[in-house]
Amino acid sequence: MSSFVAPWLADSRRYLKSPRESAPRRPARFVAGGAVIASLLLFAGCREEADAPQEPVRPYFIQRVPWAETGVWLKADLHVHSKFSDGSHSITELAAAAVRNGCDVLAVTDHADHDRDGASAEYFAELDAARRRHPELILFAGLEWNVPPYGGDEHAAVIAPINPTERSLLSGFKARFDDYGRHEKTKDPELATAAIGWLHSQSRSGAGDLPVVIYHHPGRKRAHTMSLVDEMVKLREAGSVVVGFEGAPGHQRGPVNGAYDQRLKTIDRWDTSAANVGDAWDELTRRGHHVSGAIASSDFHNRENANVSDYLPGEFSETWLFAPARSSPGVLAALRAGTTFAAHGHVVRQVQLKVSAPGLPRPAIGGEILRIAAGTPLTIQVDLIVPDVDWQGATNTMDEVELILISSSSARPLRRARLSNRGASSCRHTLTSPDGAWSVRARGRRVVADGPDLLFYTNPVHVLSQSDSLSTSGRSAASLKSDDHE
Ligand SMILES: [Zn+2]
Ligand SMILES: [Zn+2]
Repeated sequence: MSSFVAPWLADSRRYLKSPRESAPRRPARFVAGGAVIASLLLFAGCREEADAPQEPVRPYFIQRVPWAETGVWLKADLHVHSKFSDGSHSITELAAAAVRNGCDVLAVTDHADHDRDGASAEYFAELDAARRRHPELILFAGLEWNVPPYGGDEHAAVIAPINPTERSLLSGFKARFDDYGRHEKTKDPELATAAIGWLHSQSRSGAGDLPVVIYHHPGRKRAHTMSLVDEMVKLREAGSVVVGFEGAPGHQRGPVNGAYDQRLKTIDRWDTSAANVGDAWDELTRRGHHVSGAIASSDFHNRENANVSDYLPGEFSETWLFAPARSSPGVLAALRAGTTFAAHGHVVRQVQLKVSAPGLPRPAIGGEILRIAAGTPLTIQVDLIVPDVDWQGATNTMDEVELILISSSSARPLRRARLSNRGASSCRHTLTSPDGAWSVRARGRRVVADGPDLLFYTNPVHVLSQSDSLSTSGRSAASLKSDDHE
């Protein structure tokens, strides 16, 4: 397989003109896995050592992914429905379809409605049977939660670690925190945050066995997706289980893409929160909430309905996890760390966004936080593999790869590169690091003549960049604040 390096297009006024034109520095806060890493702490450490010998900041990781060089790629569908709610297929049939379409991971997230059978004894009996029949598949139990108190308008997945408490976790959660379909609806405006707090309290041995919560189809019923920001922040502050949102909704097969039949529509099949530069995802990033939007699910219910029709698990939408191991804990660790990308139509494989700097032992990948001196020369690189054929066996292309820069004051396209070949490719862009806290994410596009296009999205790499120097002891103190993903 040949390797191809694409030149970035450099002809747009939208692009960053000069790194020195970046916005004035503002206090930045990094939130990772629920743990707040206040950059002010780092700078405070610097000031405390005013008399210590100063040296330029050498790049280092504030937050790193231990499996960055050893991870394995796993294909996932994290949102499907079975006959235990309003799906048309059994769990066994869903598992077989997922395996047939190349999935390593499937989460069966039946509705948590009071009058449905998600997380029932019968649900778990069939789930166990499907696990025995498909031991090659990492098959998670989950629920699609009607997030209170909105009368069930908003949904989020609760995905349980595979362990002996998954049954009591999900059935207990459903009984306590989902009132959809019940005669008596709660009036408690804090029930959603209480639910997240309860999930957070369910760990027996630390964050490694916590469930994860993924917000679903955020733009389906909203007037604008920026309203997602405050809700996500509120939920995340209630407990470190809310890891992301569906950047692309399911229901991709029907004429109304995503079943977005109200005010907002999808943009090339993706939710506006991810597709619009500067929308909710970038605003969350800017506020230091590092959530994963690189999630594309099938939301499979059935194929028969004329208006809302779905692709099978793994058939069209893909979430790819770069995980420490092929296991339940490995999958959940990848979701917490944000080491994912997502794509439609099987147009790309093994996408890694990387930021490298002189003196850094290896490039930083999506989900990681770098500390560097402002003015450091950096290389931002997107590595990817473009398969010869797409999901339908037709000749495949990846026409364009784009970088998006999120700074303290704005989010904007940074660079675009055109691709013309297949196989292993790499797009590289060099820049001098702007001052302040900033992040970069990537997306790629295969142009479809009569639309919509087929895209992939990565999660961001985060950079904390400051122009002053940092004493050796100050850097050491700051390093102790680093938050590795285990
Ligand atoms: Zn839903
Ligand atoms: Zn659903």
